[in-house]
Amino acid sequence: MALIVRKYGGTSVASMDHIRRVAWAVTATKEQGDQVVVVVSAMGGETDRLLKLSEEITPVPAAREQDALLATGEQACSALLAIPLESLGYRAQSFTGIQLPLITDHVHSKARIIDLKTDLIKNSLEEGIIPVIAGFQGVSKNGSITTLGRGGSDTTAVALAAALKADRCEIYTDVDGVYTADPNICPRARHIEKISYSEMLELAGLGAKVMHVRSIELAQKYQVPLVVKSSFNGMRETWIVNEEDIMENSIIKGVTLEKNVSKISLIRIPDRPGIAYQILEPLADAAINVDMIIQNVSIEGYTDLTFTIPTTDLNKASDLVYEVARNIDALEVRADNNIVKVSAVGIGIKTNPGVAARMFKALSEENINIEMISTSEYRISCVIEEKYGELGVRAVHKAFGLDATESTETGS
Ligand code: ADP
Ligand code: ASP
Ligand code: MG
Repeated sequence: MALIVRKYGGTSVASMDHIRRVAWAVTATKEQGDQVVVVVSAMGGETDRLLKLSEEITPVPAAREQDALLATGEQACSALLAIPLESLGYRAQSFTGIQLPLITDHVHSKARIIDLKTDLIKNSLEEGIIPVIAGFQGVSKNGSITTLGRGGSDTTAVALAAALKADRCEIYTDVDGVYTADPNICPRARHIEKISYSEMLELAGLGAKVMHVRSIELAQKYQVPLVVKSSFNGMRETWIVNEEDIMENSIIKGVTLEKNVSKISLIRIPDRPGIAYQILEPLADAAINVDMIIQNVSIEGYTDLTFTIPTTDLNKASDLVYEVARNIDALEVRADNNIVKVSAVGIGIKTNPGVAARMFKALSEENINIEMISTSEYRISCVIEEKYGELGVRAVHKAFGLDATESTETGS
């Protein structure tokens, strides 16, 4: 008898019909003799709907209340799945993050898990009850509801699988696994059967939203066997495994598009020691993740500084930067959310010179201007104008020989 933690994403529970189908699938697995712990996202579109409601009131809603609001999406869905399970004659119990509890730090909208109590779940399993957990949410030590960041139900599932020492964690979504690029923007993307935790971590961190980045960190740390499958088509799947379990490796594993990226530039700031610290420290204190940073050469003691942040933090970051800019007499602050980041990811990058040049050539052949560049052992990223994002992904995908001969059938 296997213990399986199975997560259903928003599209898999988008309507009551979908939820009924999920209930049947869960009971079928139970009938095979396995134990299942289910984790659900909010019904498709619900988190966006709730976000819009609060942003109708103010562009920067109180973070604590925003999390309390968003967590209701998953709470409703967990009860909406437990009800049909019960009416099919099975015993089921829904649990929220507070009930478990899943304890997090206090960083609203991107909280990290500190501790996860599994007593209630274990008790349910012992009594033959199917636990249905509301994903994406937790509670901070001071009793406030927190959320784990967009896509965070994956992280709830992997954390539970680790804590329960489950045999595997299954992520059910609207694609039948991980592809070499988002199949919805790159029709020639190829299905990947096995991908290493390290490569999946990079892909997820750079915009491949098929998996939440922290879920991969946890899966790697606790060695959780992780598989991505489609709720709509059972033919293929992707296993996320250790690097040494993969026989074949290509230089580039995949190409990503990150849309949640904006840049802020401070023009004509004094070029003196401590200035970057003065600008970036308030952002770090506000838990805003600054990614690429470029400082121009100094002219007559002045320079310009440009950096990228998630668009979701743009309003908050702009407020903080304007304040510093006034104090240091910057000439101007410019905020731009009209950009995206295209990245090529692969463990072969560090050992294959010329990979970056190939990517730049692919973009230039499409007349796409590169605004910012960053590289690491595993990736090359270029910031470009938003309207060229999808074209850029397709061009880079093709340039690295990743295109499949036929158009992708994702089964979604
Ligand atoms: P869920 O609601 O089930 O969590 P998500 O929308 O978060 O689903 O993730 C699935 C989506 O991820 C797919 O529909 C696809 O558009 C997108 N995606 C982005 N990059 C990739 C990739 N490399 N492989 C597969 N899907 C990807
Ligand atoms: N409902 C949340 C979101 O839309 C969390 C999740 O789906 O994983 O981001
Ligand atoms: Mg998701």
